[in-house]
Order: sequence, then structure tokens, then C-alpha cells
Amino acid sequence: MMKLSLIVPCYNEEGNVEKFFSEVDRVFENKVDDYEFVFVNDGSSDQTYKKLRYIHSDLNVKNNVQVLTFSRNFGKESAIYAGLTKAKGDLVCLIDADLQQRPEVVLEMLDVLNSDEDIDCVTAYQKKRKENALISFVKSSFYKTINKISDVDFVNGASDFRLMKRPMVDAILSMSEFHRFSKGIFSYVGFNTKYIPYVVAERESGETKWSVGKLFKYALEGIFAFSTMPLRISTFIGLFSSCLSIIYLIVVVVQKLFFGIDVPGYATIVTLLLLIGGLILFCLGIIGEYLSKMYVQVKNRPIYILKEHLDEKKDK
Ligand code: UDP
Ligand code: MG
Repeated sequence: MMKLSLIVPCYNEEGNVEKFFSEVDRVFENKVDDYEFVFVNDGSSDQTYKKLRYIHSDLNVKNNVQVLTFSRNFGKESAIYAGLTKAKGDLVCLIDADLQQRPEVVLEMLDVLNSDEDIDCVTAYQKKRKENALISFVKSSFYKTINKISDVDFVNGASDFRLMKRPMVDAILSMSEFHRFSKGIFSYVGFNTKYIPYVVAERESGETKWSVGKLFKYALEGIFAFSTMPLRISTFIGLFSSCLSIIYLIVVVVQKLFFGIDVPGYATIVTLLLLIGGLILFCLGIIGEYLSKMYVQVKNRPIYILKEHLDEKKDK
């Protein structure tokens, strides 16, 4: 029997973790024998840590709970990476703590994975999104753009709710880049992925950590991490404006030599200067984005910092 690890990133999920734990146990009963929880407490400022400790010490009768506590909030991507590092399973499932991603779907994923040896990964995607029109629009335009300009495929609606076999997990772990954009990493490593539809449940308790602003930042992260197209944009803009200025020069010289018309006044020049200045700054900004990412990567900072690791209890 293969062991299954559930990786559960938790950031201020005090109202959810206990319910999550008991729901999984209830749903998995008699269906999945060998599984473990890997809770990652991503610098929560509420009672999440206390609840997780309680789960680990009191509720954990099967002795299958790990709790990783970060020294501060590092973000969900880092939490996933940490969880993958410590997971002991041959199969690994990423799942949110808020019960929006139902444990029943994990059973479906297991069935699909077991139905065909050739499948390495099962990913759930949302058929219908329960979110407002603006967020939907931002998301779908993002997928259109990034699929055009990057080499890896991004599937709209595919979440990071997924079940993977060990070789894929190891491949993801081998990508130790600092700026982690999971959707891109999953796609980049390849492997045979099967998509199944699922319905996102309501959040049990607490609030989503996403806002339009955060989504926009996340989208830019994705583009800068998986495409160098923006750099090429600056080359094109440079080329285009150089051509324009050469044409302009020729026109001015021809007018002066053959028709005796004077060079047009300062207004044009000032306008052009402003335009070119703006374009140069824009392009420098794009280069700066990549440079700053390289700067951080070169420093080789850790993806997360662990304050405490509660593992299986050995003395039992
Ligand atoms: N999360 C995390 N670190 C963060 C933000 C979120 O570990 O900085 C976790 C959060 O606790 C939850 C999951 O990531 O288990 C998804 O977050 P959320 O429910 O806010 O996102 P949504 O479901 O709205 O996309
Ligand atoms: Mg959620």
C-alpha cells in the first residue's frame, strides 16, 4: 500500500484546522489506510499554532501528523515547498486548510491515479468560479497573455489542488528557485497530468487572503518567472523608435536642402524628448524587474525558515 501525504498550508486558519483534520479522517476511513498530515503553519498571527499543537499532541491517535512552523509568513508557495520537502509519502496531495477543497475529491483523484499506471498527477480544476466579474476577467486575461508569451502551458482554472507521484515531487523539489510560481513549475517539470473538474466549496471560516491587488502582483510574478518576452518588448520599442528618428532626420534634411524649409521648432523636440525619455524609463524598469529577481536569487536566501518541526512521536 502506498503512503499518501497531505500537505496543508495554513495561514490564520484557527477556525478550520480541527474541522479539516476530523473531516479528512472521517472521509478517509476504510478507504485510505496509510496517510499523513503535513501542516505548514505559515507565520499565522492567530491561534492556528495552538490548534495545530493540540491536533499533534491530543487528536493524533494514528500518529500521522507533522507540523512545520515558519518563523514568519513566507507565503503559500514557500509553505508548499516546505511541505514537499518533509512529506514521506509515495503520493503527495496539496490541499487547502479551509475545506474549500473537499477531501472527497482526494478520493476521486486517487481513483483516477490508480486507474492508469501512466498517470503521474491528477489536478482538480474549477468548472464554475464563484468569484466576482472583475477577478474572473483579470484571471482569464492573465492566462491568455502568459500562454502566448511563455514556453510552458498554463491551464485556466487549474488549482494547485493536486495529487502527485513521488518522481514528480522530487522533480519539483529540484527546482529550488526563490521566486516560486507553482503553476509554472508544475507545468515546467512535465509528467503526465490528468485534469478532473471539481466544485469549490464555501470557506469554512475566516477570509480569503486574495485581493485584486495581490492577484495582479501574482500575475506579474508569473510572467517574470516564466517568460523573457517583456525584455524583448524593450528591444522592439528601441528598434522602432530608432527607425522613426532616422526617417524624421531624413525628412528634415531633405526639406532643408531641397525646399529651404527650416527645421520645425522646439515644441516637436520637447515632445519627442519626453516620449523617448518615457520609453527608456519603461524599458529600464523591465530590465530592473529581472535584475532585482536575479539579485535576490544570487543571494541564495532560503525559501522558508523553520522555527519548529513536530514530527511523528517516536516514544509511542
Ligand atoms: N495560505 C498560506 N500562506 C499565505 C496565504 C495563504 O499558507 O500567505 C494558505 C491558506 O491558509 C489556505 C491556502 O493557502 O490554506 C489558500 O488560501 P486562501 O483560502 O486565502 O485562497 P483562496 O482559496 O481564496 O484562493
Ligand atoms: Mg481558500
